[in-house]
Amino acid sequence: KANVMTNSDVGAFVLFGGSGDLAKRKLYPSLYLNFIKGLLPDDCKIFSVSRLSEQTQAFQADIFLQLERYVSPSQFSDEKAKAFVKCIRHVQLDITQVDAWTTLETHLENFRQSPIIYYLSVAPRFFGDIAKGLSSVSLNQNGARLVVEKPFGHDFESARTLNRELRLFFDEQQIFRIDHYLGKESIQNILALRFSNNIFESQWHAGAIESVQITVAETLGVGDRGDYYDNNGASKDMLQNHMMQLLSIVAMEPPFAFSPDAIRDEKVKLLRSLRLITPEVYADHCVRGQYVAGSGERGYLDDIGRDSSDCETYIALKAYIDNRRWAGTPFYLRTGKRLAGSLGEIIINFKPSNPELIRSKSGQCSNNQLVINFQPDQDIFLFINKKDNQSEMFLVDAARLQLSTKSGDLKLPYERLLAHVFEGDQTLFVRDDEIEVAWQWLDQLVVSWSAEGSRPHPYDCFSQGPEQANQLVTNGSGWERIK
Ligand code: NAD
Repeated sequence: KANVMTNSDVGAFVLFGGSGDLAKRKLYPSLYLNFIKGLLPDDCKIFSVSRLSEQTQAFQADIFLQLERYVSPSQFSDEKAKAFVKCIRHVQLDITQVDAWTTLETHLENFRQSPIIYYLSVAPRFFGDIAKGLSSVSLNQNGARLVVEKPFGHDFESARTLNRELRLFFDEQQIFRIDHYLGKESIQNILALRFSNNIFESQWHAGAIESVQITVAETLGVGDRGDYYDNNGASKDMLQNHMMQLLSIVAMEPPFAFSPDAIRDEKVKLLRSLRLITPEVYADHCVRGQYVAGSGERGYLDDIGRDSSDCETYIALKAYIDNRRWAGTPFYLRTGKRLAGSLGEIIINFKPSNPELIRSKSGQCSNNQLVINFQPDQDIFLFINKKDNQSEMFLVDAARLQLSTKSGDLKLPYERLLAHVFEGDQTLFVRDDEIEVAWQWLDQLVVSWSAEGSRPHPYDCFSQGPEQANQLVTNGSGWERIK
């Protein structure tokens, strides 16, 4: 084991699963974007490790085509893509075979004096063997970094086992667990808005905030991921990882410093203070749903080719955080497939002015809202009331202030996250204890719905989700409509 060196003097990048779907759609394009911006070390070597039997030259030609396909035309250059693919070597090996590690060692012999990045874009069942294999030939030394993909476990026990397997051979400071939502511009902007503007941070508490809504909605169904999805559902696919990460960033206490561990300490603390949803309160705090045929689209069961399933394709929650800052403020979270729109947004609903002296044309004036969109657009809006200049009487209407700047091509999540791995900066990566606490909380939720014997409520394709979810929102004007 060895500590990570925080520099960009990386010797080589080894991509396990280098011929897979994630590598082709996201990882090579993101490496390419870092390459053209000069953020990769000069003479960086990328080793693609997979079972694919292909010579390096043919593999490079294939990756060139993938770049043409997945990089935006404004950033794609024939010449630069050719230069980039020349950095790639393809190494065919089966990581389950013992001789794999000496073969890999031979390839990496000239690079091992500098930090090597190992990106594990393979199924999690291989994580432990890869860590062990690398260590068997001392390739975990000299500032080596290990990047791991989701899913990281399927419950607390499995996540803890995975963490133990990795930490036998790598220090926590060497492990970068990916949650690509943390690479989104808007999500990082939450930290910027909160911790560099006193007007927000001074109002960031239950005294001023009525509720928070976090939504990740998709119009897509499960597609060809039916087998994986049916074992996991929306709770394990989206809630335990992405949504709990968003929640912890929105609600955490200010860290004592803007450093990876100070920030992650606060996120863990926040997740620990998230109230457990026990069987006794389950019915008032959680609604699960499953899409059924409608609007010309097949239902979930047809999509997965089964007669029955208790898997949720939608989940909505009313969650409470038991600390002084948030006592009494509900956090409404929902995520689902085949909903009326595709969007990711966080809405901070501030409390109304009290007493309300001035009204709007339609009656009450609107509450202030801070709206953070993180997909597909990355916009941030603040709604505030101003005098309605069209009215004879003294009335107000809401103005929408755009707080984000549309600045050309924003960095893609994987592009940004990879740049941080090259820098050795762990701020945007999930720590071992964070992932375990999030699983513990979710495990309790699963126990609660099992104890209740509750089944997912049906909802029509392209709807707002099951009607039962409306009962969760007990203050304000209900769920924001998904459009
Ligand atoms: P994939 O099936 O397309 O690719 C798997 C890769 O692993 C291939 O390159 C294959 O050759 C390699 N591989 C498999 N067994 C091997 C062995 N014994 N020795 C050497 N190489 C071996 O998978 P994917 O969609 O690219 O996903 C990879 C991982 O990332 C999975 O764990 C998946 O859950 C996760 N993930 C994928 C996506 C995505 O959008 N595809 C998103 C998030 C997370």
